[in-house]
Amino acid sequence: MGNAIGNICRGTCPSCSKGKIFEKNGLLYKMRMPKMHENCAVCGYKFEKEPGYFYGAMYVSYMLTVGQAVGLYMILAYIFKFDDNFQIFLLIAATMIGLSFFNMRISRTIWIHLFKN
Ligand SMILES: [Zn+2]
Repeated sequence: MGNAIGNICRGTCPSCSKGKIFEKNGLLYKMRMPKMHENCAVCGYKFEKEPGYFYGAMYVSYMLTVGQAVGLYMILAYIFKFDDNFQIFLLIAATMIGLSFFNMRISRTIWIHLFKN
């Protein structure tokens, strides 16, 4: 389990813990999506087991996004004492866009690790 968490943080293969899952991180300002390797470069583990395999990762992504939005709301409302909900909404929306590629990478990585075999 500790190994899986380390692999998720490093974005490495669930099978050998060495190969990287993503070839490129993606750049939001260039609208370049993160690019995945098809197979692990070290052990050949296939990351996308079937077409549509990563639809399930959207649930992981949704969970992460809701958690981040609620967390950010708490920080803005109770620590920074924002009292304008519209300002909070704009800040949360901007943050969610900023984190979208990160969330896509991490949710796919978690998904791969959830169903490794
Ligand atoms: Zn591997």
